[in-house]
Amino acid sequence: IDTTKFSLADFMKSEDKNIMELAKEFWEYKEDYVRRRHYQYRRVSITGSGPTMKIIDHYTGEIREMINLASNDYLNLTKHPRTIKAGIEALKKYGTGAGSVPLLGGTLDIHVELEKKIAKFKGCEDALIYTSGYGSNLGTISAILHEKDVAILDMYVHASIIDGCRNTNVEFFRHNNMDSLEKVLKKVKDKYNTKLVIVDGVYSMDGDIAPLDQIVEIAHAYGAFVMVDEAHATGVIGKNGRGTPEHCNVEGKVDIVAGTLSKALGAVGGFIATNKELVNYLHFYSRAYMFSTAPTPQATASLIEALNVIEEEPELRQRLWDNIRYFRENLLKLGFNIGNQQTAIFPIIIGDDYKVKEMCRELHEAGIYVNPVFYPAVPRRLSRIRISLTAGHTKEHLDRTLDVLQHLGKKYGII
Ligand code: PMP
Repeated sequence: IDTTKFSLADFMKSEDKNIMELAKEFWEYKEDYVRRRHYQYRRVSITGSGPTMKIIDHYTGEIREMINLASNDYLNLTKHPRTIKAGIEALKKYGTGAGSVPLLGGTLDIHVELEKKIAKFKGCEDALIYTSGYGSNLGTISAILHEKDVAILDMYVHASIIDGCRNTNVEFFRHNNMDSLEKVLKKVKDKYNTKLVIVDGVYSMDGDIAPLDQIVEIAHAYGAFVMVDEAHATGVIGKNGRGTPEHCNVEGKVDIVAGTLSKALGAVGGFIATNKELVNYLHFYSRAYMFSTAPTPQATASLIEALNVIEEEPELRQRLWDNIRYFRENLLKLGFNIGNQQTAIFPIIIGDDYKVKEMCRELHEAGIYVNPVFYPAVPRRLSRIRISLTAGHTKEHLDRTLDVLQHLGKKYGII
């Protein structure tokens, strides 16, 4: 199989084959990856998330300790003694599951406590929680935008936002480009009932930040609402870790703040923070909320404590930012292209898929866990190695990574 010809997106477009034929063909494609030792996906960890992880090597079956640069556990709260203790106590008190959907007996006092805490943290009137960040974007957007409405999306927004727009009209604007946003808003001005501009606060493949102050101003001037996905911003940016609205000085001015509970907050789930009327509307019209069992007691209690930790232990965020600054400075010194990186996510943009695969293979062999990213996750010709840092990485972890990257960057003619 010529792997340069295929991509996941091309497979999905095949129209003349049934699913079993497609799956078989895709299996061969995957096996070819495995043969070349380029298959780095679904690696199995026996320790869970942390600055280092023990991994079962795909190819040798050996257990290897690796520097983990593939986690969104930015503050390492998955293993914080306080979040663990809170989770264990809730597990004992409430049991392993919520037992029902939120409207019909599944709502616990700690769910409401978490929702109130998120609302306050995000400067909104109220909030509701979902069992995933994917579900909160999909479930909210599909509940509020229909045939007579329009979603105006930054072209790099997360897949969960795009998937939420299946039953509405969609317009894209160029990434973080305010002229392009204004052009689209002018075009749609008198055509739709609800106009909703949706952006990510921090972009998951580029690590750059949306200019939310300008977005809010322009959108509101054209009668559009604004929704921001705070998945990679919560706990990371803003003076108090409250995310993009705090970073851009527009707290309380963003109409809908969405996010995940699975990254800096260290557990699992998603949230929507907005006004009390829209929260109430979503309780009854968001199918992903209404028809899905409420989050587990353990995750819920750990998340309440995670928010306390974020407020009470700012030194964690400080350590993360010390790491970000150190790593950025050194990558730039070495001559790598890291695009417009501004946060804990570092794209090492290479643009040659084969070099990305080979470099990732060698990084893994050197005990450094990173992710290769290709089209359609990023534009064609902008394939990259994606690295994310956490507060718990030591200078030794970063220096070791920089050494290996320098060696490989020279070997593959990147720097
Ligand atoms: N939005 C963004 C920007 C994300 O990166 C992710 C996680 N990949 C999600 C939403 C979905 O969140 P979750 O993993 O909690 O479903």
